[in-house]
Amino acid sequence: MIERSYEKFFRQNRLPHLWCPGCGNGIVMKAIVQAIEKNPTFTQDNTVIVSGIGCSSRASGYMDFDTLHTAHGRAIPFATGVKLARPELNVIVITGDGDCTAIGGNHFIHGCRRNVDLTVILFNNNIYGMTGGQASPMTPLGKKATTAPYGSVDRPFDACKLAEAAGATYVARSTAFHVQHLVKTIEDGLNNKGFSFIEALVQCPTAYGRRNKMGDPAKMMAWMRDNAVMKNSWDKLPDEKKTGDKFPIGLFYKAESVDYDTAYQKVIDAAGGGKQ
Ligand code: SF4
Ligand code: MG
Repeated sequence: MIERSYEKFFRQNRLPHLWCPGCGNGIVMKAIVQAIEKNPTFTQDNTVIVSGIGCSSRASGYMDFDTLHTAHGRAIPFATGVKLARPELNVIVITGDGDCTAIGGNHFIHGCRRNVDLTVILFNNNIYGMTGGQASPMTPLGKKATTAPYGSVDRPFDACKLAEAAGATYVARSTAFHVQHLVKTIEDGLNNKGFSFIEALVQCPTAYGRRNKMGDPAKMMAWMRDNAVMKNSWDKLPDEKKTGDKFPIGLFYKAESVDYDTAYQKVIDAAGGGKQ
């Protein structure tokens, strides 16, 4: 039997998972534990996984760390609370495109603005999966959803640009197809002291792919392979070639800036270390 060292990070008694056959969520969940495993300072006792609500947010229940499965859109405030109360912990947020950029959108931009030392991984399946296939703020123009049966006319967020503009200090994108790249991207995000944001494209064959005639899960992954362009190459492309379904992946932004628990500790110290 092949020994898979990362399996110790899963709650075996909670498996099998409830995701649809061919769903990309498991690929990203596995990439997260592989990234954690690469950093020996991250242990099951000092790492907290916080998730919101939705298909991707079920991942926290399968991962054998201290975990919080919270309310819709509220993972970042819960995670901020954990980080401020226990700054020595590593706090990872798992969220979806609906969870993070619709009901949780305000928490998202303010988490970025404060540069809270969190690693936020957005599983982007371009739709609300669990709640019934509604369009999310990241559903591409023209794509169908239960709330957009003729195709969405709402312009979607580019969550990476949003995170950078709002103040995140590590911003990157990868996909469920580019697994090695995804693991490295998450690993680098975990090592950033500040708000790290990683968008991971995932195939959702059930709520998104079927409705938009994208074919089976393998075809959806081939679409990621054929349309993702590494940032270095993307930057050299003339604008007329940045068309159709093409999109960039890679590290978009990295900066050094004081993180929120360090800044807040100064307030605690100024107030007498919390002593009366
Ligand atoms: Fe995955 Fe989509 Fe099924 Fe949810 S609805 S488990 S995202 S394939
Ligand atoms: Mg979604």
